[in-house]
Amino acid sequence: MANIEKPAIQKCINPDCAAEYSCGQGMFKCPQCSDLLDVIYDWDKAPLPDKMADFGKRWATRNNPLDFSGVWRFRELLDFCPDRHKVTIGEGQTILEQNCAIAQHIGLEPDKLFLEYEGCNPSGSFKDNGMTAAFSHAMMVGAKDSACASTGNTSASVALYAHACGMKCVVFIGEGRIAFGKLSQAMDYGAQTIQIAGDFDDCMRQVKDVCTELNLYLLNSLNPFRLEGQKTIMYRIIEGMGWNVPDWIVVPGGNLGNSSAFGKAFGELKSLGLIDKIPRMAIINATGADTLTDLVNNKGLKWNNGNVDHALIENYYKKLDVENFSPHTCASAIEISRPVNLKKCLRAIDITNGVVLAVTDEEILDAKALIGKFGLGCEPASAATIAGLIHLLEKGTVQKDQTVACVLTGHPLKDPDATVNYHKQSQGKYSNPPLQAPNDMDALIKLIRG
Ligand SMILES: *Cc1c(COP(=O)(O)O)cnc(C)c1O
Ligand SMILES: [Zn+2]
Repeated sequence: MANIEKPAIQKCINPDCAAEYSCGQGMFKCPQCSDLLDVIYDWDKAPLPDKMADFGKRWATRNNPLDFSGVWRFRELLDFCPDRHKVTIGEGQTILEQNCAIAQHIGLEPDKLFLEYEGCNPSGSFKDNGMTAAFSHAMMVGAKDSACASTGNTSASVALYAHACGMKCVVFIGEGRIAFGKLSQAMDYGAQTIQIAGDFDDCMRQVKDVCTELNLYLLNSLNPFRLEGQKTIMYRIIEGMGWNVPDWIVVPGGNLGNSSAFGKAFGELKSLGLIDKIPRMAIINATGADTLTDLVNNKGLKWNNGNVDHALIENYYKKLDVENFSPHTCASAIEISRPVNLKKCLRAIDITNGVVLAVTDEEILDAKALIGKFGLGCEPASAATIAGLIHLLEKGTVQKDQTVACVLTGHPLKDPDATVNYHKQSQGKYSNPPLQAPNDMDALIKLIRG
């Protein structure tokens, strides 16, 4: 096995199985019980810094591509891969913006709101944090071809990294379910793009079988190495806050890879003594794709030390099948009704004393316009964070003097249709439709003066 060099193994999250495997093999589920896998470290053998702030020293040596990367700068905390296999294209150069205007608008004290713009990544979404790690693993195990199912951003990111690795890639997307900015990227970056007559959940089922059949390396967030890369989003938030931890992290929930990774990140940092407090996490669904919210808030589903009530989940999914349910939301990145990381997300909720809730498409689009008007903008799914935060403040779950970091997962240009439609239709709170004018200066001046 290729992995004796590093203090990491893959381990099944099911406590009744707990099987362990080398990191030298590419698998997307436990071969024994089919449950999810974790990457687990022997921290005693990992050369860790004394404090988080030590990672900041790497800004001085950023001519080294691994120190420049906003992921690999923190490499001791995801130490599964020798440097020679690592793949980086400059991911993680993100902005943590303290946004007083939006804070005041939604009833937080002005200096308490931080927006983490993951849209600044090379492919325009946070997915690059995960792909740099997963493709590094793919290189480490000698994979030749890669594949993913995608609501859009995964395909854009996979296509970009596959290209950087000289690997082929095939992406499955649900017909008519993808925002145009994302589809355009997959094609432009040279992915073999297959539109399946179905939704994301159908694509996910197909890609797993196809990967097994054709021995393709799978890059969905089932892939535990992807989640290792996504942990660094939290490290950068801590860094952006002067190496302090916020009271709350707010994140949209789709396949629940991010929320799972964030929970793992904080659990590890706390147990290593690198932070003294774990923030609470709020995971926000869209009401049209609210499996997590329904299961946790209404059906009482819990992590329960890993002894998750599988029958409850199975019956829930059976009911979705019987009803022929397909999720629907304008936030296409979170239009998922069978989140693959559900169990890990339950663990993350447990670690962070987390909460979940769902917001309507209308609330998402208004929040998106608010972020555009007073911030740097984002795609619809990302705006679920601010929409959710508004509810949490109203309910008193989040208090106005608490610090909150919202993860804005994708770039505003990912889904220009959503933006144009919102403004043109003039239905939203912040709609700003273009005005019609004749080709005449006097008329124009009159119009501009109002
Ligand atoms: C993938 C994606 C999500 C969902 O993230 P999960 O980790 O699957 O919950 C949210 N927003 C954007 C922009 C995405 O691309
Ligand atoms: Zn197992």
